[in-house]
Amino acid sequence: MKNFQNSVDAYKEAVDLMPGGVNSPVRAFKSVGMSPIFMEQGKGSKIVDVDGNEYIDYVLSWGPLILGHADDRVVEKLQEVAAKGTSFGAPTTLENELAQLVIDRVPSIEMVRMVNSGTEATMSALRLARGYTGRDKILKFEGNYHGHGDSLLIKAGSGVATLGLPDSPGVPESIAQNTITVPYNDLESVRYAFENFGKDIAAVIVEPVSGNMGVVPPQDNFLQELRTITEDNGTVLIFDEVMTGFRVGYNCAQGHFGVTPDLTCLGKVIGGGLPVGAYGGKREIMEQVAPTGSIYQAGTLSGNPLAMTAGYETLNALAESSYEEINHKVERLMEGFRTAADENGIPLTINRAGSMVGVFFTDEPVINYETAQKSNLDYFAQYYRAMIEEGIFLPPSQFEGLFLSTAHTDEDITKTIQAVRNAFAKIEK
Ligand code: PMP
Repeated sequence: MKNFQNSVDAYKEAVDLMPGGVNSPVRAFKSVGMSPIFMEQGKGSKIVDVDGNEYIDYVLSWGPLILGHADDRVVEKLQEVAAKGTSFGAPTTLENELAQLVIDRVPSIEMVRMVNSGTEATMSALRLARGYTGRDKILKFEGNYHGHGDSLLIKAGSGVATLGLPDSPGVPESIAQNTITVPYNDLESVRYAFENFGKDIAAVIVEPVSGNMGVVPPQDNFLQELRTITEDNGTVLIFDEVMTGFRVGYNCAQGHFGVTPDLTCLGKVIGGGLPVGAYGGKREIMEQVAPTGSIYQAGTLSGNPLAMTAGYETLNALAESSYEEINHKVERLMEGFRTAADENGIPLTINRAGSMVGVFFTDEPVINYETAQKSNLDYFAQYYRAMIEEGIFLPPSQFEGLFLSTAHTDEDITKTIQAVRNAFAKIEK
């Protein structure tokens, strides 16, 4: 059994200092019945906790670290740039460089604005869509997470379109009422919502591959139809590519699926492990943002040199072939999961888009929030704890995907597959 004494001690100290001892709720390991593991360092595909336990890491800071931890190219450039000053509150050419790279690579983006997190990107994109259309309502999908902005922290009931109720105390009902929530992959509900509220809907915001109820890819022509419906109704289509951006493919999910939204939100990989978000899209819409336009959005540290450097070096290190290489490893890993499940009679559905992988303990297809809920959470918790013992670090929640990086080796995959077989064999039914 691994020793976690230093983590346990650190957690005891932390619970008095921060709510739940953490600065973001998922880090509390609540749903897997463990005390949080405190990390100390990482290199490539490996991380080491404060007790010296080493893990192959499939969390990768919840997605950003597509090159793995402390990539030499990123670290060297960061050291160089930090020595020259970390923020000026005036423009730098580093911002131009990352902006150009994003514009070159993301089909929908003609102009971009850098912010500091995915939450800021989606909040700002919504304000822009509302300001641009002069409408208040938005439509989002159940089980899609777009950060913790008031308008977006709403999932509402299942079935046909329902007006939103807040998910969290503190979100005023008056704001929630402007959010319509429908099931993911359910075009009929989208059409129903547009029949009733079409001319009031400023934006449809969607994760082009859903990564926040586990991984749930879009079915058939879901994204294409969203494009058509929004175009017909003068509604802004926003792809929240905070998770999928530069991860699902070289040209993001929109390149992969061949559907171009009006606005795109980015985060995670675009910051290479530093706090960065961005939103961008059609020039005509982006020019409504201050100071060219009147829709206000600003940030003291937005576009700061360190964040821009980590983002630029990360994106620059990625070629189209990098994605093919990662994808081969993902496919091997998925095969390993399937074999382990068959060997041990474990019900398993694996969803995948690029290097985002969702493992559900159910035989049924997982296509939306309702079907994702069918996963056996007890099996997940047992599997999770066994994998930690095996030295594999996974997101401590059924409703998150696991990620791979260019730094994961074939040997990592072989070890992980063996760990999955051992973990599945131990699951008590
Ligand atoms: N959108 C999506 C799709 C996300 O996955 C996340 C974070 N997991 C966010 C927005 C919010 O990003 P951040 O945590 O950087 O605010």
